[in-house]
Amino acid sequence: MNALSQTSTIVKYSQVKKSYGDLEVIKGIDLSIAPGEKVALIGPSGSGKTTLGRMLMTLEEPTGGTIQVDGQLLWHEEKNGRFVRAGEKHLHRMRERIGMVFQHFNLFPHMNVLDNVASAPRKVLKLHKREAKERAEAMLAKVGLADKIDVYPSQLSGGQKQRVAIARALVMNPKVMVFDEVTSALDPELVGEVLEVIKDIARQGDMAMMLITHEMDFARDVADRVVFGADGRIVEEGPPKEIFENPKSDRLQSFLGRFR
Ligand code: ADP
Repeated sequence: MNALSQTSTIVKYSQVKKSYGDLEVIKGIDLSIAPGEKVALIGPSGSGKTTLGRMLMTLEEPTGGTIQVDGQLLWHEEKNGRFVRAGEKHLHRMRERIGMVFQHFNLFPHMNVLDNVASAPRKVLKLHKREAKERAEAMLAKVGLADKIDVYPSQLSGGQKQRVAIARALVMNPKVMVFDEVTSALDPELVGEVLEVIKDIARQGDMAMMLITHEMDFARDVADRVVFGADGRIVEEGPPKEIFENPKSDRLQSFLGRFR
């Protein structure tokens, strides 16, 4: 891996495949994300978007191809066909570069908001308790929850819970954030506040983002590039204006038709 390719992609999927038993859900995907680039993944339910994010988080194992993070192999197939993950040392470093926010918040119910956010900086980055809390407070202020640090997740609205989850991922200062349908489980009136927070982070940051979303206006606003996948393949990709105003494939045209 030369220096140029290390700096020009933060995430690189090459010919990635994934099957669950006989069901092939990812059928050979090539996708590179540049540092700081915001990429929206859109497509019908079941087309494999979440699976792509989960493989990046090493929550799922691919069944073919390679995935690189910051120039290092996260997953690859050896010549003998065995599929291997990076060694623990590299894996640890790569995991620190990726943050993920899920549809269902996954907060620690027994910890207050501040501890939910401060826990990984303490345990993973081994920061001193006070420093971890200061960082956590700064992140919570960023997502508009400075006044909620002492409360428990059960006392929060869905939108607030999701903003805590975003702060918890951000506090680790990842190079790439995966947002997986983060508003799908929310009441409609709470969707806006979460999308605003993400837009804000996108505007400020040099952090790359992979935005898996069914919110087309949001994708159009935030993304540098929109990738449309269906049946485990990338069907079409391009700048938001092109994808939304001039979709070329029948598949994308009929998909977008559902949102009009
Ligand atoms: P999307 O995010 O685009 O809706 P997913 O990645 O969640 O798609 O799912 C792709 C396909 O993989 C779906 O058909 C889903 O049912 C299947 N799938 C996802 N996870 C599993 C699993 N753990 N076991 C079996 N099938 C799965």
